[in-house]
This record gives sequence, structure tokens and C-alpha cells, in this order.
Amino acid sequence: MTLRLSRRALLAAGAATLAVPRLDLLGIARAQDTAAPAPLLYRIPVGEIEVTAISDGFLVLEGPVFTGIDAETVSTALSEAFIDPAAPFHAGVTAHLVRSGGRTLLVDTGTSDLFGPTLGRLTAGLAAAGVAPEDVDAVLITHLHPDHIGGLLAGGAPAFPNATLHVAEAERAFWTDPAVASAAPEPMRPMFDRAAASLTAYGERVQPFADGAEVAPGITAMALPGHTPGHTGFRLSSGDAGMLIFGDAVNSAAVQFSHPEAAFVFDIDPALAVATRARLLDMLAADRLRIAGTHMPFPAVGHVARRGEAYAWVPEDWRYQ
Ligand SMILES: [Zn+2]
Repeated sequence: MTLRLSRRALLAAGAATLAVPRLDLLGIARAQDTAAPAPLLYRIPVGEIEVTAISDGFLVLEGPVFTGIDAETVSTALSEAFIDPAAPFHAGVTAHLVRSGGRTLLVDTGTSDLFGPTLGRLTAGLAAAGVAPEDVDAVLITHLHPDHIGGLLAGGAPAFPNATLHVAEAERAFWTDPAVASAAPEPMRPMFDRAAASLTAYGERVQPFADGAEVAPGITAMALPGHTPGHTGFRLSSGDAGMLIFGDAVNSAAVQFSHPEAAFVFDIDPALAVATRARLLDMLAADRLRIAGTHMPFPAVGHVARRGEAYAWVPEDWRYQ
């Protein structure tokens, strides 16, 4: 991505962001009287690899969140999913604990305290899974948006003191480029600050990777650019079993399987995000590959089925175990 393209995309993203009146990117709202819910965990075996989906809670976004698609089409898709189109948009935030080859890995880190009382539950979820922060050997980051890296820091220091931090080189380069940051609209500045602070805190333990790299035993990086320049999925393989864990390749199960052309308000390059989604969904349906996505409805694991020219989300049957 050239700087010129980045600037244009950033301006577009900034304009869209400004059109969302009550979306607080790094919100400071706090509920004083919200009782903490019980941690939500779900174990998913992938061959010899054990994945545990851990809910960090859910985002609540007010205002239009889809772009490049007319509002009536979105309303119809939501209604067909029995979701009130007039209600605020809700999206789950799920992080994935991965135990593979004796190593303890975490894919994304939730939001910590950046988004208010409906989120920030990952730490309790990890504890419920029997994992202390110092047990985490590596953190794999799908992209450097705050709903995926909020939990990297605790009081400004690394929340996972023994973990290496794996992030796509394209992603690291974008969020740490002073020219890109200075061209970004004001509402996006906190994202740059948070990304840079997180990478700085992990210092020498940041390990940038390229598309296709094996980032851990049995786990390879798959570039899924558009939402952000270095947005990445992680492909797990163990024997015949496989799974793709992604961040924001699909933001809404209710809308973007049936309408992959719907871009999302935080896509840095909406056209590329749509093209990536089209390519990915075609591959997932053809390969019948299991997926786990940050913003899919918890436990956020399922498959993609082809439906005519578009697709459908097929949640996996609940595993009673
Ligand atoms: Zn996200």
C-alpha cells in the first residue's frame, strides 16, 4: 500500500468514523454497578491442538456501521436474522487461547478497559481456563485495532510478561509510520498511539512475520488485507484437522455472509476488504474449512456454506463436554 493510498483510505475511514455519532473509539465510559458475569469459555479441539474461545464481552456501536451498501439491504438482512435493524449494532469480541506442542498461545487480547463495561473480560476468562498471564508464551495479533490489542498492556507494561508478540510486518509498518499517523483523521489518532505504545512495550519481543510464515508449530499466517493493511488470519493444522482464526475478515455474521460486498466502518481500505472477503469466503466454502472469528456470535466457531451467489454462516453444533 502506498502512502498516497493510505492517506486517501484513512480520510475515508475518518469521515465514516465521524458519521458514527456515539461510537467512542477509546471510550472512558464506566459503569459503577455492573456485576461481572461468569467467564464464557468454549473448548474446540483441532486435532492435537486445543483451542479455547474466551469471550471478552461485546461491542455496542451506534449509528450506521456498514458502508458501500444501501441501508434498506442491511435492514432486510438484519431482519431476516431476527435482529432489530433499529437497535444498536452488537458484536461479540472473542479471543482464542491455543495450546499446541506444549506451548500456550493467545490470538488477540480483547479490549481490556478501553471500551467500557460490556467488555474487558478476557483476564477473568484466562484465569478460568487455568492460564496466568505469565504462562502465555506468545501472542499472535490479527491486527492492531484496539479491540484486538487492548489487553496487551496492563498499566502501560506488557500484560503477558513472558510472551513474544507476533504481528504482520505490513501491520507493524503501517501503525508505526509517522507520516501515515500524521495524515490520519483526528478520531483515529488514539489507535496509532495505542498500537505504537503496545509495540514499544514489547520491544525486542516483537516478531514481525510475512504472509505464509509459520508463526508457531502448526500455525501459519494468512494475509487478509483491507480491514487494515496487515490484517491476518491464522491457519491451524494438525493431522487432517484445520481451522482458520481471523479478526475482522467478517465483522457481522448477520450481514456479510449474505452480503460480502458490505464494507465496515473501520475498514482502512473498504474495497480491498470486500475483495479479500469475497476471495476468502469462496475458499472457505470450497475447502469446508472450519473458522473462528473474533466478531462471530459466541462461541464463534462454524463453517461457511455457499448460498447461490453469496454465503451463509453455519454455526457449529454445540459440543457438550
Ligand atoms: Zn475487530
